Amino acid sequence: MNILVANLGSTSFKYRLFHFDGNQATAVAKGGYERVTDYGKAIDDCLAALRAGGHLNSVADLDAVGFKTVFGGALTGCVEADESVEAALLATADLAPAHNPPYAAGIRQFREKLPSVRRVALFETAFYQWLPEHAHRYAVPEAWYQAGVRRYGFHGASHKFAAERAAELLGRAEVAEVTRNLYQAGPSAVSGAPLRIITCHLGGSSSVTAVCNGVSIGTSMGLSPQSGLPQNNRVGELDSAAIPFIHRKLGLSIAEIERQLTKESGLLALSGVSNDVRDIHAAAKAGNPRAVVALDAFVHSIRHWVGAFWFQMGGCDALVFTAGIGENDTFIRESVCAGLGGMGVTLDSARNALSPIETDLTCAGSSTKVFIIPANEELVVARETRRLLLAKSSAA
Ligand code: ADP
Repeated sequence: MNILVANLGSTSFKYRLFHFDGNQATAVAKGGYERVTDYGKAIDDCLAALRAGGHLNSVADLDAVGFKTVFGGALTGCVEADESVEAALLATADLAPAHNPPYAAGIRQFREKLPSVRRVALFETAFYQWLPEHAHRYAVPEAWYQAGVRRYGFHGASHKFAAERAAELLGRAEVAEVTRNLYQAGPSAVSGAPLRIITCHLGGSSSVTAVCNGVSIGTSMGLSPQSGLPQNNRVGELDSAAIPFIHRKLGLSIAEIERQLTKESGLLALSGVSNDVRDIHAAAKAGNPRAVVALDAFVHSIRHWVGAFWFQMGGCDALVFTAGIGENDTFIRESVCAGLGGMGVTLDSARNALSPIETDLTCAGSSTKVFIIPANEELVVARETRRLLLAKSSAA
């Protein structure tokens, strides 16, 4: 079975082709285009490249295209990406304006160009379907909750993969299996000690998730992907009183406040330098005090969420770092883990400095293990796409 995973940005189109032999997946090709103005052309170029590379003889060899869709309001999980999904993406775009319109447009283009190829959407909110009510509710009037104001959670594919892999690395294959099968089987009981994993997806946008016995029980992300940690240029956590306050104080319209909170906030606003942590490090080294504060504020926020989930779960068996910053930034990892000896974590600084993947980074005797697990969101999308196809064909 061949499954193409399409990653659509507002001006980019990236793809990865997976070949499945049974349930064994191999990524056989990947590529992408920047400054895309027409997904139709990008789809043609992608198919031409896959044919030229000998990966597909024709479109008939392609079983499905999988999409890592971000937000569909009440619509979540892994679903056939039909026209109702395109409509749901557009209807909920006000809470994910950077992500939903490109996916709606891209899915439509695939439908028009390749009508015979199945399309499947795996929502980034899917991993949080089982958040208990007390963990997903805000203390807002009931009518707001009924209108959809709640914590949804994002980066689900990344956190799911990291939690599954961490459970395997800890020798808890049965818990890894709960995570792997979650979208089909739902949560299931696990024997033995509870397995408590905290995953930190730190990249262009960032979030922290708590996973107990294979199922997420908490997320730093909220109603939209601009909550929780400071993001690259999105605000992260903010007291809601700031919005009416700044509307009156600076005379900014709601639309302008929204623009500034999504485009000119986060690490960019804190540092005054860049939305990229690498540039902020360079500025901090050169003595820029705002860059130092930006890095410290980022670490402070990560520790805030890690600490909260550690307490909520009564401990933590593994702390996992993933995505661009999590995988590469030795300073951020070291700072997040600093001074935690009393909680059972002592990072081995020499090992941390080498950023080895899927290897415990702690000193002997640490009761909490620390891992770098490279993000593999596309694999999650491909696997779930395949499962949906198989489930539908066996039901037919
Ligand atoms: P996205 O969330 O956009 O998918 P990534 O997970 O690829 O992004 O992360 C991108 C971010 O990772 C960049 O904005 C940059 O801040 C950070 N990054 C990438 N490489 C490094 C590095 N070597 N050191 C520190 N940060 C890095």
